[in-house]
Amino acid sequence: MMNKPDTTLLRQLPQVEEVLKSATIQQLAETLPHDVLADAVRHEIARLRGEILAGGKPMVALENIARRAAMAATGLTKPSLRRAINASGVIIHTNLGRSVMAPDAVAAVNDAIRGYSTLEYDTAKMARGSRHAHCESLICALTGAEAAIAVNNNAAAVMMVLREFATGHEAVVSRGELVEIGGAFRIPDIMEMSDARMVEVGTTNKTHPRDYERAITPETAMLLKVHQSNYRMLGFTENVSIRELRRIADAANAKRAMAGLDPVMVYEDQGSGAFERLEVFGEYAEPTIAESLAAGADLVSFSGDKLLGGPQAGIIVGRKELIDRLKSNPMARALRLDKMTLAALEATMRIYLQGDRDGRPAREAVPTLRMLTEDAETVRARAEKLLGMMQALLDPAAATLSVVPEISRAGGGALPMCDIHSFAVKLEPTQGTALDCCRYLEQQCEPPIIARIHEEAVLFDARTLLDDELELVAAKVAACFA
Ligand SMILES: *Cc1c(COP(=O)(O)O)cnc(C)c1O
Repeated sequence: MMNKPDTTLLRQLPQVEEVLKSATIQQLAETLPHDVLADAVRHEIARLRGEILAGGKPMVALENIARRAAMAATGLTKPSLRRAINASGVIIHTNLGRSVMAPDAVAAVNDAIRGYSTLEYDTAKMARGSRHAHCESLICALTGAEAAIAVNNNAAAVMMVLREFATGHEAVVSRGELVEIGGAFRIPDIMEMSDARMVEVGTTNKTHPRDYERAITPETAMLLKVHQSNYRMLGFTENVSIRELRRIADAANAKRAMAGLDPVMVYEDQGSGAFERLEVFGEYAEPTIAESLAAGADLVSFSGDKLLGGPQAGIIVGRKELIDRLKSNPMARALRLDKMTLAALEATMRIYLQGDRDGRPAREAVPTLRMLTEDAETVRARAEKLLGMMQALLDPAAATLSVVPEISRAGGGALPMCDIHSFAVKLEPTQGTALDCCRYLEQQCEPPIIARIHEEAVLFDARTLLDDELELVAAKVAACFA
């Protein structure tokens, strides 16, 4: 049962004006706007009133309220989105910003935003240009596509393709590919939002070519193939390739042409999307964009910041007449990329084309690619280096340190089955707990360091650490035990 509210406490709650006059708040009044402070105080008083009405007995002293309000208000003055150090071993870590930009991409962003830019200006024509132009020919050169457009992210790309080509029509998709990608992005929901009628075919584990063939009706607009992202089925499974879907669509389209019906298109949501086949992953290597196009997809969409290692973007490639339709869809305007992203994307694409300014190929110059493909011995050497730095700074009585083999993950829905062999520094605290240590590294350090806990030990995976971060990590770990 709920306690009766303590009316005496309610009456003791101070007025907003009184709290604003306290020394604690007055100190902040020099640097923060009055309204911000008043809001913080009002919010704190309202919170306490709620707690009292719910039967609680909080401290209602004026000084307590002032201190809490001051804390909330000063929180606004501290950077929230800021650099972090990823020692988790998850390479495309969505919570930590997915891909680290290559130095060339960072420089390009800096250059494009310091002053005005050629965002929509064509100096050759001395006239208005298109923001789509900066990346399109590069993407085409790298994928063999006729045309391309980049929008806010791949979720937006999928949405846009479905809206432009399948609204009011049917899109056929395998039951084995009706995936949820995370963060409330589910294929059936996106279908519903785009007013496309989803026609499910096959079963969870097996879908055959004849399932698609039978599902095609005069209302069919597309055969959709969705990358299963971070979900895999093993054993008795079968799905239909882009090559097969192309054959099925072509056969249907020959008949449709005679009947005066629009052709059925083949669209693949490739999710991660890779420009190069990463042979180091053997059978797990994802097909490349070029392979999907060559196999007959009319359109393929993929993320800019997953396996590609660029900024957040959704890239759609394929036949020119289809891309042209997307370009003139109002959604292209609503979902368009800003100049910072375009600059980073263009620079990243150019690294794939010709290496970076220092002549390094994409495998070395694009951090995501480098982390994914770096051989385990190189990672071991980095872990050993970090170990040495920690040993030099840390009191041996505080923790036991060693280098241990570990498994890194690609993350971002890519290569889910793939164990990427790695090495980590393992720290077993003798003072305090692994959780205490991680809490300190995340909450008391700037930049915060995100490590992993495994069986009462803290693991620092050297695959996702940058060489220039090692010294800082060692110093902060030492500080944690000092
Ligand atoms: C990640 C992913 C998406 C969403 O891409 P974002 O760029 O994160 O919006 C869509 N489809 C698949 C298959 C994915 O793996």
